[in-house]
Amino acid sequence: MSAIVLDGKAIGREIREIAKKRVAVLTRHGGGAPGLAVILVGTNPASRLYVNNKIKACAEVGIRAELHAFDAAVDDRAVIRRIEELNADRTVNGILVQLPLPAHFDIRAVLRTVAVDKDVDGFHLYNVGGLALGETVFPPCTPYGVMKILEHAGIEIEGKNVTIVGASNIVGKPMALMLMRREATVAVCHAKTRDLAQYTILADILIVAAGVPNLILPQMVRTGAVVIDVGINRLPDGRLVGDVDFAGVARKASYITPVPGGVGPMTVTMLLVNTISAAERAAGLAAAEPQPAEDEEEPAA
Ligand code: NAP
Repeated sequence: MSAIVLDGKAIGREIREIAKKRVAVLTRHGGGAPGLAVILVGTNPASRLYVNNKIKACAEVGIRAELHAFDAAVDDRAVIRRIEELNADRTVNGILVQLPLPAHFDIRAVLRTVAVDKDVDGFHLYNVGGLALGETVFPPCTPYGVMKILEHAGIEIEGKNVTIVGASNIVGKPMALMLMRREATVAVCHAKTRDLAQYTILADILIVAAGVPNLILPQMVRTGAVVIDVGINRLPDGRLVGDVDFAGVARKASYITPVPGGVGPMTVTMLLVNTISAAERAAGLAAAEPQPAEDEEEPAA
């Protein structure tokens, strides 16, 4: 068997084309271009790269993104004050706080300050709680992107065994809640899981977000499984790899995502979608789900 490679870049491009049209509709309705404020603290090169990519992607679909950069030594109260100002600014529809924040920050207090209706990353306590009850306003971007990849490939979720490797607040836990809502049977593994392979081998769908290169080897994967690799790891030789032995596992899986070019571009795409949804709600328009089939019905720009 040789797996079908799920191309997150191509799926993301389709969704971004629809996003452009949604922005055009918004502008025509007098709502103005959606606005995203990005808060970056410190000079972490990876964070800066992610932020630059997000700002560039915003520009491509017509979202007005503004960067609010702070020195690493800034008091977290100054950042909280800025978020409060942005909450009150009607031209700002979404507020994103790039993580990680410096160690002296009260991260929970910072994330709680973001207004729920501008929390386009989906990290506010209300949005996280809403995920458990099925009433979240903004699904967090990375697991939302994974759901869109599965949906796009027509992969059934209901009744499937899903194993998630990684239990972080931004990927593993919200991913588990989203899949439970879709009636999958979900196992969540983490660093203290004993004998990881006994869980991974059961998975019809295996989602890996641990940040450990080559954690998942072919013998840990069931033949025909769908494998989604969320991990992004920079090797000493400069190569970017996921958590899965791609070449080996691709010979056993039915579908697999590459790194780069899999989940990464979808995370950025879903941030755009959440920001546009926020602007649509603010303008009194019903937030439209990005359904490719509805493409032709959207009026042209
Ligand atoms: P994180 O906060 O460090 O969480 C990692 C999770 O993996 C933790 O739950 C940890 O367990 C678990 N883990 C670590 N080593 C493990 C092992 N050997 N076996 C089983 N579980 C293990 O990381 P994160 O922010 O969720 O990110 C995870 C990876 O995804 C990273 O490579 C990151 O760069 C990538 N990522 C990619 C995107 C994207 O857009 N593609 C977005 C976000 C993150 P404990 O809970 O027990 O510590």
